[in-house]
Amino acid sequence: MFNRKLVALLAALALLFAACGDDDEADTTAAPAGGDETTAAPSGGDDGLIVGVSWNNYNEERWAKSDEPAIVAALDAAGVEYISTDAGSSAEQQLNDVQQLISQGANALIILAQDGTAILPAVEDALNQGIPVIAYDRLIGNPGALYITFDNVEVGRMQAREILALVPEGNYVFIKGNQADANADFLRGGQAEVLKDAVDSGAIVNVGESYTDNWDPAVAQTNMEQFLTQNNNEVDAVVASNDGMAGGVVEALRAQGLAGIVPVSGQDGDAAALNRVALGEQTVSVWKDARELGKAAGEAAVALAQGTALADISGVVDFLSPGGNNMTSILLAPIPITQDNLNVVLDAGWIDEATLCQNVEAGSVAGCP
Ligand code: BGC
Repeated sequence: MFNRKLVALLAALALLFAACGDDDEADTTAAPAGGDETTAAPSGGDDGLIVGVSWNNYNEERWAKSDEPAIVAALDAAGVEYISTDAGSSAEQQLNDVQQLISQGANALIILAQDGTAILPAVEDALNQGIPVIAYDRLIGNPGALYITFDNVEVGRMQAREILALVPEGNYVFIKGNQADANADFLRGGQAEVLKDAVDSGAIVNVGESYTDNWDPAVAQTNMEQFLTQNNNEVDAVVASNDGMAGGVVEALRAQGLAGIVPVSGQDGDAAALNRVALGEQTVSVWKDARELGKAAGEAAVALAQGTALADISGVVDFLSPGGNNMTSILLAPIPITQDNLNVVLDAGWIDEATLCQNVEAGSVAGCP
């Protein structure tokens, strides 16, 4: 009995001793990523690295459901610690959040910017401290950052192509994203490109166009209601820039008996939107496999934290931003999902059949038997 107690006591002392040793090491060796390779990194995952992610909000389904788990999985696989903040749609809060992630020892940052301009001082600050930054999904105009996103102009083209095929002439409404997010104009640019000839010839008339604060579906719905009123309901097509806003648009149309009659676009492959596509209430959801984006960003963040140069990250290409910055980028390809290819999202395990086909008449569309 006495011996067992003594052994336990000695074991406890040994543990305590080892723990103190770890602390000492962490305290004395904190060094920014990309610094002297002989200096160990601060405490964190297996190899001591920490990646900090600054989210702007979780309002969109994709961030918590797909992007975040994929980033976390990539960090876990490398034994790297994940820390995060949520700015709650405040650009000012996000500046503080980035400072907080830095002070918590982040060796690399992934930033989903609320406002691509307002965030610039925090990004510059991080880069000056040798902490690499990934502009996640949304452009941040500092060429020192790695820009990882989908081809957003192409998303806009895909949205417009599907709508144009159904409505070659008529009154169009454009429900754009949040103005402080460069994606809003990338999308609109792609849409304009595809519709240019029809607009120039007068076949298509732009009868309403608005940015949407925070990509908020409720704001999109209100704006759509106003466009319907202003045009005596004579709206033939709606190019909505994402699925959340498409949901608001469809509710505004429903109130006028126009849901399922007026084509509406979207993007993200949100569950409710894919169901609307199956039901015939939304024409297209441009699907961006956010799991792939998260994985790419997680892996790149690990490599950057380990000191890899931007240009040596695998798969990078040059991207010239509208502001004239030559960004080192990873651009993934989007896929338009319509009633004709619902199998793509089913086969990818993005959505299950019960969710996709809820309330869909059996056999009315392929994918919903
Ligand atoms: C993203 C979209 C998303 C939107 C609102 C954009 O920057 O690219 O996928 O729907 O933000 O969160």
